[in-house]
Amino acid sequence: MPIKHVIERLLHSTRQSTPGQAEFYQAVEEVLVSLEPLLASEPKYLHNNVLERLVIPERQIIFRVVWMDDSGKIQTNIGYRVQFNSAIGPYKGGLRFHPSVNLGIVKFLGFEQIFKNSLTGLAIGGAKGGSNFDPKGKSEGEIMRFCQAFMSELAKYVGETKDIPAGDIGVGGREIGYMYGEYKRLTGRFDGVLTGKGLNWGGSLARTEATGYGSVYFAENILNKQGDSLKGKICTVSGAGNVALYTIQKLYEMGATPVTCSDSKGMLYDKDGIDFNTLKTIKEIKRQELSEYLKHYPNARYIPVDAYEKGTNGVWSIPCFAAFPSATQNELNLRDIQTLHHNGCRLVNEGANMPSTPEAIAYMLANRILYGPAKAANAGGVATSQLEMSQNASMQKWSFSEVDTKLHAIMKSIFDLAYATSKEFNEEGNLMLGANIAGFRKVADSMIDQGAV
Ligand code: NDP
Repeated sequence: MPIKHVIERLLHSTRQSTPGQAEFYQAVEEVLVSLEPLLASEPKYLHNNVLERLVIPERQIIFRVVWMDDSGKIQTNIGYRVQFNSAIGPYKGGLRFHPSVNLGIVKFLGFEQIFKNSLTGLAIGGAKGGSNFDPKGKSEGEIMRFCQAFMSELAKYVGETKDIPAGDIGVGGREIGYMYGEYKRLTGRFDGVLTGKGLNWGGSLARTEATGYGSVYFAENILNKQGDSLKGKICTVSGAGNVALYTIQKLYEMGATPVTCSDSKGMLYDKDGIDFNTLKTIKEIKRQELSEYLKHYPNARYIPVDAYEKGTNGVWSIPCFAAFPSATQNELNLRDIQTLHHNGCRLVNEGANMPSTPEAIAYMLANRILYGPAKAANAGGVATSQLEMSQNASMQKWSFSEVDTKLHAIMKSIFDLAYATSKEFNEEGNLMLGANIAGFRKVADSMIDQGAV
């Protein structure tokens, strides 16, 4: 049967057997379609049913999370952990707390994580988890009780050599702390079961910064290959959380000027450049609204979501040389990329997971816009999580610059691998194809080595 038909049949059966998981199908389709040239040259992957196995998680755990709010009322949420693939190492991937979380979202993130982790060159399998809990507007006590309730169930399924969760949207150092405390209380163990830990209790220097820094290192690699760099360039960034913040900081260090950021309520445009320290204080320390920024920089513009042109993300209307989507999935659509292109944008580098729609990606590839796909571009976070695990296991503590140097080298090696693989399959520079094939090959070969499991 022609390979196209094999893929179509698998996509169809995936939709039939797991209805209502749009983001998951989107992630699966992107990967499977880009594997076509590899499957054509290496029939062993079809003979061993690797694809059929790959799209089914090894295990998915769904649980009730019950906690008490400040008024004494019992609240209920749904918790998830999808342990997708452990062919190359223990499960690893973040936890997301956001009202939009459902099984399809967790599966898309877990599926992406398999290939991302493989690309890092480290021994980590793919997983993801989270809850539909909304941390916004909750008191400190409520956040703590929720995290404890969540971990009281999750603790049964994780372990330092089994499954090692980390943060993602809505889960930062504070939440990891509360979950770690509960894990310790339940198990009596002080081990590296979570990453993103506090620096006093097993965390790694540079883990907080790693995804944003790594994303900028990756972009610089793409540009260097073209004989260009970020120096002196105007950049746009979406999001105002962990990834966006440290993308902004590193862009300045590379000599670029990041002029935007955003959250779910609106966006900021400061043509002189977003002030990193002010943004960090507002979003990371005081957890305030983005519009607070205007009190410090009255010449900046704050545009609320309602004022965006319908169906577009306001950030991408600002002219730039490079765009760094760093908020959430499907935040950059066809109209956004057409606007960016029209305004002279040369590079889209994905800090968030799956931020570009399939139509936007197709447009980038057709119009030779440089494209850093999420699996590769934002892999610095999980790679540094693995460096945290290494430090925990060997009871060492490395300096910031030691970790940052390793991160820099890992991002370069991911770029080199994705680039070389794109060349091998006669699609030089198509890093999406290169990253998907390179990530897949290592996992698939390991699955074949390990037999029918
Ligand atoms: P944070 O929770 O720190 O920040 C998320 C940011 O995105 C916030 O500004 C948030 O705004 C905004 N946002 C979230 N959901 C939406 C939405 N539906 N519409 C508009 N804006 C939204 O998360 P991170 O920075 O950690 O994660 C951002 C992205 O990066 C995600 O895709 C995540 O999966 C990915 N990622 C994160 C890694 C990490 O190490 N943290 C590693 C690799 C990828 P608001 O505060 O108003 O909700």
